[in-house]
Amino acid sequence: MRPKIVVIGSLHTDFTVKVKAIPRIGESILGESFKRSPGGKGANQAVAAARLGADVTLIGRVGFDFFGKELIKNLMDNGIDTKYIIEDSETYTGLALIMVDKNGDNILAVASGADLRIREEDIDKVEEVIRSSDILLIQLEIPLHIVEYAINMAFNEGVKVLLNPAPAKQLSKDLLKKVYVLIPNEKEAELLSNVKIKDLHSSQMSAKKLLESGIENVVLTLGKNGSIIGTKEETIHITGLNVNAIDTTGAGDAFCGALAVALSSGKKLKDAVIYANYVGALATTKIGAQEALPTKEELEDFIKVL
Ligand code: ADP
Repeated sequence: MRPKIVVIGSLHTDFTVKVKAIPRIGESILGESFKRSPGGKGANQAVAAARLGADVTLIGRVGFDFFGKELIKNLMDNGIDTKYIIEDSETYTGLALIMVDKNGDNILAVASGADLRIREEDIDKVEEVIRSSDILLIQLEIPLHIVEYAINMAFNEGVKVLLNPAPAKQLSKDLLKKVYVLIPNEKEAELLSNVKIKDLHSSQMSAKKLLESGIENVVLTLGKNGSIIGTKEETIHITGLNVNAIDTTGAGDAFCGALAVALSSGKKLKDAVIYANYVGALATTKIGAQEALPTKEELEDFIKVL
């Protein structure tokens, strides 16, 4: 049986222009190249999990437009169940406008569009999908009250919740208590724990502080330094893998999708994090967000040669 994961979250089209240098206010410049690619944390994490072999359903909204249809088609090509994604005729598909300069630095503006119109009724309609899933994977690019509503539903049904609190936002203790694993990166952990992260010790302190707020487990991702697992019993550091990282966009999404797959396949938390650490590292060796997400076969080959 394939692990069954339901993802509730955002779908975006990323519009990226490569430029020599990011323009100043009032300046217009000619860019060097342009690329349109599928994105949004919800969609990225759903694709990450599907490529690793899970049975994935994505819940969300797009606009009733060309870009929405293109995003749905891409998800279907990745084997994701899209039948509950609503095409909303009142708005546009979520998007990100990105400029990347010759050093790889970027600026980015997101217009959430349909992501912000997900309703409680959308979640009610998929109650059975949530109930029959092993894991609910969710992020914060949709309205917070929807995140709370969906987490409550999953919690009451006994379905494990993995929350990636991105982009960073304050969350209530009541919500955090219902989360099985919280997966923040350093910035998100700093905001939620109020502990400044500057080294391994402070990241462990941050994870401990988060556990005190009642979350069962914390997996704090540390980029090239791997991650910290915080549980009631212990705090463990899983070291980062030494890879030739060329683009770290989407590493966090790869990690979250992989962690959901590993946990829903019955792996223990530590083994699941070791698995996700491989997937996150491998995703940094290719350019792009979704394009860089590895398949099960690519992951197996990578582990063999590592
Ligand atoms: P985010 O993209 O959300 O900021 P991180 O940068 O912490 O998340 O990356 C998530 C995970 O991806 C890390 O915990 C690690 O497993 C892997 N990873 C990210 N960057 C690198 C890197 N340069 N080298 C090896 N692994 C990496």
